[in-house]
Amino acid sequence: MPVESLIKKKVRMEKIVTNLKLEYPDSKCSLRYESSFQLLTATILSAQCTDERVNKVTKRLFANYPTPQDFVMLPIGTIKKEIYSTGFYNNKAKSIKAMAESVVNEYGGSLPNTLNEMVKLPGVGRKTANVVLGNIQGIPSIVVDTHVTRITNLLKFLKTKNAVKIETELSKIINKNDWTLFAHLLIDHGRAVCIANRPKCNKCVISNLCPSKLGET
Ligand code: SF4
Repeated sequence: MPVESLIKKKVRMEKIVTNLKLEYPDSKCSLRYESSFQLLTATILSAQCTDERVNKVTKRLFANYPTPQDFVMLPIGTIKKEIYSTGFYNNKAKSIKAMAESVVNEYGGSLPNTLNEMVKLPGVGRKTANVVLGNIQGIPSIVVDTHVTRITNLLKFLKTKNAVKIETELSKIINKNDWTLFAHLLIDHGRAVCIANRPKCNKCVISNLCPSKLGET
């Protein structure tokens, strides 16, 4: 593929986002939550686990313990038992407990609203912070997960697996109003059509905009 100018990338990206919005009009975060703290907790639990499983666990967890103050009071053993089925429960329980303590002791019980502060919370990486900032705090944020990494590479907007580089590159070519929605669109597309190692290019609504369309690479 010849080198594509920034302007051409922006135009191609806008068409891709438009097509995906039409294809997945209900695209949104599939984790259930009622507060920033709950979304942050659910996102920590979602590592190496399906959103469906996380939602089952958090339904009971958040009904009994809705606030960071509840988690500060909760023995770590109880947290482990509650989240056991999401996998990696030892580390996840430690992260959630330490994160809740930090939110209560350093931020008065409310989550901070900047990326720099969020990533200083225990167990919170850039991806997790961007999920919360974008989906509940209304701050345009680009989440880079496996689907976003894989599909943006297939679309040849970039050639890297480095999440920070991907976020930086995408921020130059995606309309800021679409930053938060972008990951949800690609997650839906990655699950339904552009499936890892077996993409259904003949059913893809952005195939005419994709240099990796099967048969063309
Ligand atoms: S054309 Fe194929 S490789 Fe490209 S985005 Fe669509 S499904 Fe994925």
